[in-house]
Amino acid sequence: MTQPEAQTDKKEPSCDKTLTSDNESPVIPFGVVTIGGIAWRIVVDHGLEAEGLNGDISEDKALIRIKPRDPSAMTITLVHEILHAINWVYCNSDLPHKVFNALAHGLIQSAKQLMPGCVIEWPDKIHKS
Ligand SMILES: [Zn+2]
Repeated sequence: MTQPEAQTDKKEPSCDKTLTSDNESPVIPFGVVTIGGIAWRIVVDHGLEAEGLNGDISEDKALIRIKPRDPSAMTITLVHEILHAINWVYCNSDLPHKVFNALAHGLIQSAKQLMPGCVIEWPDKIHKS
């Protein structure tokens, strides 16, 4: 879950309760990342706006949804949702949710320094919402 406001440390993040977007929302396939042998599909989903979420993950569907907005913010959200996947696959969901945003920022900072030029190129059309 990634919400615009400060993160809370609930046991079950509210973002994880909504598993699918409604069919009226444009969903743009973005890519696939394999973590722990599971291929996680990543989509940009305008429907998350109505749900008040920046991102969402469904472990059942191996689906990560990202709300279209500023590309750097989307990248932070994507890494946050990937941390959800890592936590679920490797940590039996034992990692506290409150650390995900800090880890996401630190990982992105490290990646930018160690892999200069590494940037996620989000599709241009997502900004025309
Ligand atoms: Zn989260």
